[in-house]
Amino acid sequence: MSHVTPTVDTEPATEEISMLETVHQHLERAVSALDLSPDTVEQLRHPSKTVEVSIPVRRDSGEVEVFTGCRVQHFEIRGPFKGGLRYHPDVSTEESTALAMLMTWKCAVMDLPFGGAKGGVVVDPQTLSEDERERLTRRFAEELRDFVGPTKDIPAPDLGTDDQTMAWFMDAYSMQQGETIPGVVTGKPTVIGGSHGREAAPGRSVAVVARETLDYYDLPVEETTVAIQGYGSVGANAARRLDEWGANVVAVSDVTGGIYDPTGLDTSDVPSHDENPRGVSEYDAPQRISNEELLTLDVDLLIPAAVGDVLTADNADDVRAEIVVEGANGPTTPAADEIFEKRNVPVIPDVLANAGGVTVSYFEWLQDINRRQWSPDEVQSELDSEMVDAWNTVRATVAERDVRWRTAAYIVALSRINESLTARGLWP
Ligand code: GLU
Repeated sequence: MSHVTPTVDTEPATEEISMLETVHQHLERAVSALDLSPDTVEQLRHPSKTVEVSIPVRRDSGEVEVFTGCRVQHFEIRGPFKGGLRYHPDVSTEESTALAMLMTWKCAVMDLPFGGAKGGVVVDPQTLSEDERERLTRRFAEELRDFVGPTKDIPAPDLGTDDQTMAWFMDAYSMQQGETIPGVVTGKPTVIGGSHGREAAPGRSVAVVARETLDYYDLPVEETTVAIQGYGSVGANAARRLDEWGANVVAVSDVTGGIYDPTGLDTSDVPSHDENPRGVSEYDAPQRISNEELLTLDVDLLIPAAVGDVLTADNADDVRAEIVVEGANGPTTPAADEIFEKRNVPVIPDVLANAGGVTVSYFEWLQDINRRQWSPDEVQSELDSEMVDAWNTVRATVAERDVRWRTAAYIVALSRINESLTARGLWP
């Protein structure tokens, strides 16, 4: 017998909203809870620079194909721009603007001396050979050379890119600059200035934030059931940490669908998407479920850790989890947020929960400046303490202002940005 309530509504989602619209609405909502000058808000609504480039690449067949890439730099009042590069068919300047804005808030929530950026190439990296990916990355680095740099804008991995992508980017940039400049990117292999623990960091931070939140709501982690959408770097690392700490991870999924075991999955045995892209779909689990079914499972904790806009007005009422912790960037639409608010389901926002990635990127940047590598233990304990500090600051704001978690995180971020803006003033 099925342990899953089938999703009866198979109609496509009716709530059409872009990621940029989502991010703008979240911003407006936070602004209304905070006394910010309209001048500040007006500046925050616009990215400071948007670059679109053409990237000609010779395919293995000998033909030349031109790809489109972009980089959006949002707001640098607190330091150089920082954020990932994604290789994905949906990359656009509009989506990158939304994600760059999220990076600005994320860096400020963590009190890191960076502003937000994001970018990428419109491509499905699976359709390229490794040599083609290398040529694409090197040429993309060259096209962005005037806009990036260790004190200007520091890219990092994101969807469809990894430590090897960063290594090629860093090498191409360094060759053209005439010196080795590890600090131009983060998320590099450790042998060329990368940090230990960077790859696992976003998932680890999701797990740490989830643990603190469960504790706050008096749910013992050992008695918690968890469903995680997405079993890539974020989802798998979060799942494994929570499993290690005693939680019962009952469902995980990837693009092909999910697996469900009400007695708990052995998360170390389920290969992550990076370990084997078909790992989840081939895993011998008691039950297969769809991604939509995973979101509405009867669990204590739901972690959407795949793509954006998956919790919408169409399914938020069906979500049965008591707590949602956002592993992905932008998984909850504003309409879904409102439904969760009415239903009293706390949603711990992306800008706090998955901020471990950019936090260890900051550690990597420091290690590159100092030419001294930290030990894995140092990275882990610094990361855990930064995450618990940030969580505590946001929690204090939730209590003081009687607001939702997302609004509280935005209040923390926007207050810091506003103070920096006030101190620096507007040039000229
Ligand atoms: N791409 C990651 C994020 O969305 C990390 C960015 C970085 O490390 O700069 O947070």
